[in-house]
Order: sequence, then C-alpha cells, then structure tokens
Amino acid sequence: MNIRPVRGTHDLFGEEIQKYNIIKKIVSTHADFYSFQELKTPIFEFTELFSKPLGEHSDVVLKEMYTFKDRNDESITLRPEYTTPMIRAAISNNILNDLPAKLFGIGPMFRRERPQKGRYRQFNQINFEIFGVKDFLADLELIILAHDILKKLIPSTDFVLHLNNLGQKENLSDYKTSLRKYFNINKNKLSSESFDKIDKNPLRILDSKDEADINVSNNAPSIQEFINNEDKIHFEEIKKSLKLNDIKFVEDQKLVRGLDYYCSTVFEFKTSEIGAQDTLLGGGRYDGLIKALGGPNIPGIGWAAGIERISMLMKINKKLNNHIHIAINNEKFKTHLQKIMTYLIKNNIPYYWNYKYNLKKSLTKANSLDANNIIIIGENEFNNNFYTLKNLRTGKQSELQIDEIKNFLNDKS
Ligand code: AMP
Repeated sequence: MNIRPVRGTHDLFGEEIQKYNIIKKIVSTHADFYSFQELKTPIFEFTELFSKPLGEHSDVVLKEMYTFKDRNDESITLRPEYTTPMIRAAISNNILNDLPAKLFGIGPMFRRERPQKGRYRQFNQINFEIFGVKDFLADLELIILAHDILKKLIPSTDFVLHLNNLGQKENLSDYKTSLRKYFNINKNKLSSESFDKIDKNPLRILDSKDEADINVSNNAPSIQEFINNEDKIHFEEIKKSLKLNDIKFVEDQKLVRGLDYYCSTVFEFKTSEIGAQDTLLGGGRYDGLIKALGGPNIPGIGWAAGIERISMLMKINKKLNNHIHIAINNEKFKTHLQKIMTYLIKNNIPYYWNYKYNLKKSLTKANSLDANNIIIIGENEFNNNFYTLKNLRTGKQSELQIDEIKNFLNDKS
C-alpha cells in the first residue's frame, strides 16, 4: 500500500509546528490585549451557510468547496472561511445579545484550489471579527491589530496595506451594472476567463492578473462615482487615522475581495516576498450579512490571515538550547542516569537525552542543538556517585552532587 497525503494538504512538524504555536501564542496575547474572545466553531456546517452569502458565482462556491451528503441526505461543507461560521455561532449561542461582540478564532479552512507555493487545500487561518459597530474606529482598530500582529511575527518583512472603499451594497450593485456595460463593449479584448465573469461576477475582472484584462480594467468606470457621502467620510476618517498611527497604505481601486458579502471598507496586507500568492491577510466590512444569516440588523467587519503564508516569512530559533543535555557512555550506568532524569523532572528542569549510550554522539547532538550545558555520566561518576556538568559555551567542567545541580544551573544561567 502506498499511503500519501491528499494533494494540497500538508503535515505540520518540526520548525513548522513551532512556528504555528508561536503564531497562536502571539495572536492570543494580542486578542487578550484588544479584548477579543476566542470562538471555535466546528469544521463543517450546513452547505447553505456558505453557498448564498459567499456568492453563488464566487470561485469558492462555484468550484472550491468540499461538499458532501451526510448519511441522512443533508448537504454538509467543510468550512472554506470563518466569518459565516462565526456569525452562525454568535447567533446560535446568543452572543449577539451583548454588543459589540469582538471575537477571534484560529483553525483549518478547506478550499479545493490548484495547489501551489503558499496555496493549500487545507490551510490554517487567524480570524478577527467585530459585530455591531458602524463607527470607523472598528475598521481602524482591526487594521491596527492586523498590523501589530504582522509586525510582531515578521518584523523584517516588507508588507503593504492596500485599502479600498466599495460603498454600500446597493451602490455596489449599480457599479456592477456599469462595469457589465463597459466590459461588454470591450469583451473581445478580455481573457476567456474574464469574459465568462462579465455577467456573473464583473468585479473579479478588476483583480485579474492577465495582462489583457489589466489593460481593459485600467479604463473601466471608477467605483468612486458610486459611493455616497457618508461612506466617503467614513473612509476619509480611516485614512486620516492610519496616517496619525504611522501605518502606510496604498489606495487600490482594483481591490474587490473574492466574496459577495463585502461592502464599504476592504483591505489586504500584501508582500512581494512570497511569490504569486502575495496576500498575507485580507478583510473588510460585511454590513447586512448578519441579518441575511438570520441575526439582527447589525453591521460587521473582520479579517483573516493565512498562517502558512506568515510562516514562510518567519524566522525562529529552533534550537533546544534551554534543555540540559545528558551524555552517558555505557548501559552499565543506567541507574545513575535514571536518578538524574527523575531529579530533572521533579525540579522542572527541561532535559534532552538521545537514548544512546555513546558520549561522542550525545555531545555532537548537544552541539548541533546549540545546548548550553551537558551532564556527563561515565565510570568515575557512577562509582563515586556524582555528575559532571560541562558548560558547552566556556568548556568549563564541574563535578556536582545531584542536589547541587539545580542551584548550579540557576547561578550560571
Ligand atoms: P481569504 O479568505 O481568501 O480572504 O483569505 C484570507 C487569507 O487566508 C489570505 O490572505 C491567505 O493568507 C490565506 N489563504 C487563503 N486561501 C489560502 C490557501 N488556499 N492556502 C493558504 N492560505 C490561504
């Protein structure tokens, strides 16, 4: 039998899982600081939670959802995104009785996309959402939080915030009509993929990466003409405050986001350092979505970031250098080894032993993991009931009784 992973999935181990855990920790600390509560939802939901709200003509719904019939014939989908499950859970658990609700989640999402660097079929996302706030300060807080988290996790990466204002749903619908008209006039110049989107999803033609499409889009009608005054002010306030907070951004009128529920402010953090899949984090407002899912008529805004893409840019110290290593040269001294292992465990001293009765191999391993100290057990140590502690930085050796080890390590560390 040749068992292999399913295409587009990957296992997290070694450095990758260390990064994943660091990301989780930093995200939780930030969530706590900004007063967001964690919400974990199931990885599958009824299909209808996604199909209409995400947009029947969106790529996700058209071709990327993992959907199957349960044994009782109900249609189930592995969650392709987190906003709609968060809203569903907030409604199911009466979380929206006390507004605003500030929620975050971390976990796997599933999309049957064409796998490539930075793009998987099961990937992990961080998600932050604020339900019930129209004030531009919610948009601002979420963008500052995103910026803070990225700065903390990938301080040496050059990433840029892209911002756009899509206006209200009804204005957006007028804009789409105008775009359809324009693209229909120019349909012969479009790629076949964009040609197919004219009627169903004309906004997505704007963010096509095809050169012919870009040329046509450059002269397309601008969304600006369709945005009402209130939305313009909202957007101006955000931009003004971002400048005050020293957060650089570019206004990007081609930024439309892939899902139907977005309106008003939309944003993405992008970087040129990870190849074609260059979006680290994306989000925006979805006023109207909570009501559409059966909740109260309240606004919402949120973002999602891809853990794998952040991971690609993270640098971590993967060495076990806080662990005290153990080296023993003969199985005959096992009881002496057991004694020190029990001592280290009882005293909460992290240790590493490679299960080899071979001084040289253990020393090589300790050096490769950049260990600070190693405990050596040989014939002399066994016969005279002591332990040799070697500092691998200075090369200095000390002969210690077992109960001296803790103080010795505390003094030297
Ligand atoms: P989206 O929900 O499409 O706006 O995605 C939000 C973030 O999730 C993106 O900016 C990526 O960082 C990440 N992401 C989305 N799709 C994938 C994927 N197929 N593989 C890995 N990361 C992804």
